[in-house]
Amino acid sequence: MAKSIYFFDDPEPVGRELLGGKGAGLAEMTKIGLPVPYGFTITTEVCREYYRLGGKLPEGLREDVIQSMHKLEERTGRKFGDTNNPLLVSVRSGARVSMPGMMDTILNLGLNDESVLGLAKLTNNERFAWDSYRRFITMFADVVLGISKDEFEKVLDEVKEKEHVKYDAEVSAEGLKDVAAKSKELVKQVTGKPFPMDVWEQLFMAIEAVFKSWNNQRAILYRQLNNIPDEWGTAVNIVQMVFGNMGDDSGTGVAFTRNPATGEKELYGEYLTNAQGEDVVAGIRTPKAIKEMANEWPNTYAELTRVASLLEKNYKDMQDMEFTVEKGKLYMLQTRSGKRTAQAAVRVAVDMVHEGLIDKETALLRVSPEDVNHLLHKRIDPNSKGQPIAVGLAASPGAAVGTLVFSADEAVAEAAAGKNVILCRPETTPDDLHGMVAAQGILTTRGGMTSHAAVIARGMGKPAVTGTEALKLDSENGVVQTPGGTIIRRGEVVTIDGSTGEVFLGALPLVEPEVGAHFEELLSWADEFRKLGVKANADTPEDAALSRKFGAEGIGLTRTEHMFLGPERTQIVQDMIMAETTEERQEPLQRLLELQRSDFIGILKAMDGLPVTIRLLDPPLHEFLPQPEDLAKELDEAKKKGASDTEIAKLERLLRRAIQLQEHNPMMGFRGCRLGIVYPEIYEMQVRAVAEAAAQLKKDGYNPRFQIMHPLVGTEAEMKFLADMTHRVVNEVLSANGVQLDYKVGTMVEVPRAALVAGDLAKYAEFFSFGTNDLTQLTFGYSRDDAEGKFLGTYVQKGILPEDPFVSLDKSGVGRLIKLGVTEGRATRPELEVGICGEHGGDPKSIEFCHEVGLNYVSASPYRVPLARLAAAQIAIKEKRGEIFKDK
Ligand code: ADP
Ligand code: MG
Ligand code: MG
Repeated sequence: MAKSIYFFDDPEPVGRELLGGKGAGLAEMTKIGLPVPYGFTITTEVCREYYRLGGKLPEGLREDVIQSMHKLEERTGRKFGDTNNPLLVSVRSGARVSMPGMMDTILNLGLNDESVLGLAKLTNNERFAWDSYRRFITMFADVVLGISKDEFEKVLDEVKEKEHVKYDAEVSAEGLKDVAAKSKELVKQVTGKPFPMDVWEQLFMAIEAVFKSWNNQRAILYRQLNNIPDEWGTAVNIVQMVFGNMGDDSGTGVAFTRNPATGEKELYGEYLTNAQGEDVVAGIRTPKAIKEMANEWPNTYAELTRVASLLEKNYKDMQDMEFTVEKGKLYMLQTRSGKRTAQAAVRVAVDMVHEGLIDKETALLRVSPEDVNHLLHKRIDPNSKGQPIAVGLAASPGAAVGTLVFSADEAVAEAAAGKNVILCRPETTPDDLHGMVAAQGILTTRGGMTSHAAVIARGMGKPAVTGTEALKLDSENGVVQTPGGTIIRRGEVVTIDGSTGEVFLGALPLVEPEVGAHFEELLSWADEFRKLGVKANADTPEDAALSRKFGAEGIGLTRTEHMFLGPERTQIVQDMIMAETTEERQEPLQRLLELQRSDFIGILKAMDGLPVTIRLLDPPLHEFLPQPEDLAKELDEAKKKGASDTEIAKLERLLRRAIQLQEHNPMMGFRGCRLGIVYPEIYEMQVRAVAEAAAQLKKDGYNPRFQIMHPLVGTEAEMKFLADMTHRVVNEVLSANGVQLDYKVGTMVEVPRAALVAGDLAKYAEFFSFGTNDLTQLTFGYSRDDAEGKFLGTYVQKGILPEDPFVSLDKSGVGRLIKLGVTEGRATRPELEVGICGEHGGDPKSIEFCHEVGLNYVSASPYRVPLARLAAAQIAIKEKRGEIFKDK
């Protein structure tokens, strides 16, 4: 079998696949000469083997571990389990990627009733020795024996009470001795066996517990949420202990090489004096900001600064470090790439390019398209901020409004009932994960910027306010009390601002975000690399202006049906529908023409110089009439009230027409270009409105560029009919106005037949835009609303579908139609412009596909335009680097 153990200074280059992230980091730090306590890593391969053997340590591992421990003893000059000079170690899990808070570490292993005396003698610090021992008993019992930490907390609390002290660090040596004795007693009571005194037994039990923890509930859930394969397994790191609990010149802390919330270049983090391990993140005392260390321990601070900069130079990324200070000396215990907010991700990537650490391509690949989405976080409307009821730490940016809930289960239940909720906890643990997923935002009363709640919320891109100590929380009864004495109960609405740490009573209005300077710069780099164009779906001049601000290069889809709504317009549309002859229809059409013309002027002006694709009327006409049932009721009432004959006759006519227009399956009914062919005057009016708007703008000195898009075309004859009509009307308008303009006629490809006869359609269509919402519905034969409400969830759960095809494009089915459409369309008309305007245009994976099949552009909703620019750049860079595989 391959080597199962690697020491941190092993010269053989092995990666995180075998050593896990933590082990690889410790080895790397050791190799670049940073102060790391000595130790070794048992590989992830051993974990996999452990599971292959059905939960047994592989043969030979014991011997390897014993031998390695002897080597560690030699190096440190201490002896494992010794009465005079004991070697203590930590046993730490470490998977390939960091899984925060998922698997627990055991510190101070190697202590027993004998060696604790040795430790006291050796360090001349009895209090420290007993503190370490009682901690070890607790951690070991919790992680290995499965006895809840809380039980031991109670033991400690009793002693604290007896000694009249508030904090752990104030308990006397005698008191801690007492705690250790009582804790061992507790273990014996619960397990029926004495606490193990054999240090080797402790060690092997701990190693096995690490392997087992790979498959605990929390770990499994975290893997599911983050798409981490179950087969990877975890490594085990055995590290010589260094002690932060040796007095006021010692401590433990976590620090980022840059600010993980804003990305600013500054050492950022927290530490706690006279403390060990997770104390700093567990919220037992409120930690100090790292900046304070500059005053308290200037030399250590200088050393930490030096280490941070070396780590960044080495990894070329922002690092998240764990360290311990033992009597003034700094030891590094962990480094990993730091989790950051979207804002920080962008700023760090851009700054590092300017600092010469990375190139633009790397910077672009560092920011995930979803991050970009988070960046467009909502904020509280600055005009209506008001007085916060409490202020905590600004742990994860963005604002959220929701009903207060006090447990994760409650959060899930209320969210399922359609409510937005804010999850309020003293502090979160991995057991709260499902509640955090369900909540809009997270509020905690304890814990710092590096607490579980803060780290996880940032990862999820959810607003969080942590450490709001001023709030008095009673989770059991579902109440919080503010310092001002206000009582807030379960079910009341609050607003939190994770960018400032403020908490407000009631629902404050939220406003949409803006794009900052770093973000602009990153996106401008994205534009240098991407091959795909990015347009927006926008129906109003406001949305058009917004998408232009976000970098859209045109409008890929303007839907015109919205222009038929609103009380005044609905009436005109109804008149048009009710008209019995073409002549009668002229008058309402004329009025609609005027309204539409001014709509198009607004949009074409906002997008001046950029192409605007306008889709003609798409939904069936009955959508503009009241429901027959409602009309029947109205008619009854009118009759009862004794309304006039003309009024009754009018209602009867309306009802008749509504019944006549009713359809069994409107999605596949009398809609789209079918309307435009049966009632040509409707589409002619729309084309005329567009052309007249453009002609007028042209005369006013603008540069309008419109493209008329016909929906639901499925046959060559339809396309020919519509293209002929369009050219005729546009040319009439242009020559009447004496202007010349370039424009295009094309179609939305959204019924499968259109893709199949793309070559024929391209004879008349100058562009295609894949309407992948309908194309997906019609290819699968699913009606989206029914499918998503009834069976798609189950389908995805059971693995029948890999994912919701309305969210991420179905490459093998719908995608195949797209490829066919592109190939055959371009065979007829090489310069054919092809894009996509379904919601998939804003989905990163679908965007990759669009790049691969050679579309000219994607069109997404305005807020997803920045995401699309980045995703398009990333796929272009990956292709350039040979990192994608095109399937035939
Ligand atoms: P996690 O994966 O939860 O971060 P870690 O193994 O990093 O777990 O450790 C938990 C805590 O114990 C951290 O604060 C870490 O710095 C500390 N720690 C781990 N090993 C040692 C050691 N050998 N000496 C001192 N502190 C340690
Ligand atoms: Mg942990
Ligand atoms: Mg750690």
